[in-house]
Amino acid sequence: MSDYDVVIVGGGPAGLAAALYTARMNLRTVVLDRGPLGGQLLNTELVEDYPGFESILGSDLAMKMGDHARRFGVDVRDFEPVHEIVVEGDTKVVRMESGEELRAPALILAAGGLPRYLEVPGEKEYWGRGVSYCAVCDGAFFKGQELAVIGGGDAAVEEGEFLTRYASRVYILHRRSELRAQPILVERAQANSKIEFIFDANVKEIAGDDKVQDVLYEQHGELKELHVGGVFIFIGFVPNSSLLKVHVDHDAAGYIQTDRNMQTSVEGIWAVGDVRAQLTKQIATAVGDGTTAAVAASMYISALKDAARA
Ligand code: NAP
Repeated sequence: MSDYDVVIVGGGPAGLAAALYTARMNLRTVVLDRGPLGGQLLNTELVEDYPGFESILGSDLAMKMGDHARRFGVDVRDFEPVHEIVVEGDTKVVRMESGEELRAPALILAAGGLPRYLEVPGEKEYWGRGVSYCAVCDGAFFKGQELAVIGGGDAAVEEGEFLTRYASRVYILHRRSELRAQPILVERAQANSKIEFIFDANVKEIAGDDKVQDVLYEQHGELKELHVGGVFIFIGFVPNSSLLKVHVDHDAAGYIQTDRNMQTSVEGIWAVGDVRAQLTKQIATAVGDGTTAAVAASMYISALKDAARA
């Protein structure tokens, strides 16, 4: 007999929404997360685009989602890193880094991803000494300093804006002349006198002594230098799909491809939220993915039970 009906790997909005629904459908459900619950919500200061919450702290929304799932009997296990996921017949086996194994017929992968690295000299060396991937976590260490933000998407522009609370000036360096970020975020940043955009800037190196001092970038064939106290890198995201040791269809960037029910190419495995190939990564879409997968998983488990009784 399996430990659970459904194992959910990842405790961000997608995983917690899935858990809420499977638990409400009386399925024995566990959510595993390698850190605290909340996923990307914990890297977001203010959430202003989740319907019903005009403005809420990311950490508060994470707590509410976690409490809500727990209230319906979800077994929530945070700080429980998963090592790998394998398939044995109909059973999905989740091997934890602790050595423990959990088994269930249904697995919902909601594992999100990690920041993409710039991969220039100095990035690794100065990580934690001026290089950061999280404005909410590290911004306050840079009071009164000038900062560089790398990237041209929503994260770079939104986090750059957030950093102006602490920094005296924020330079947003983007490799092209056109931003990818949503116009509403761009307009807000453009209206902020502490923000300066530097376009066509290809970062070549992060330099310093015991901590970051300079960003070296190439612009129109010329090598330039920007003196800053810190460098925040927001150039996208790498999905955590490699936990699956069984082949599932994915795109070139590693995002898992699903059908409209979030079903992957492997029966009994669903993928939801930021690990899934889709148009956008929003809290609302993650919650929708989780809900769909939960309903599909419930139907799958009922069919398995019916078949076992027949
Ligand atoms: P993203 O949308 O993929 O943008 C990544 C940015 O980094 C792009 O501007 C890209 O440049 C640049 N980039 C990528 N690789 C680079 C490299 N090696 N060197 C220099 N620049 C590089 O990633 P994101 O901003 O992290 O956002 C991820 C997802 O989360 C998106 O779907 C976004 O909508 C969502 N998000 C939403 C919000 C919000 O709604 N408030 C906030 C944050 C994130 P190019 O433009 O030249 O490709």
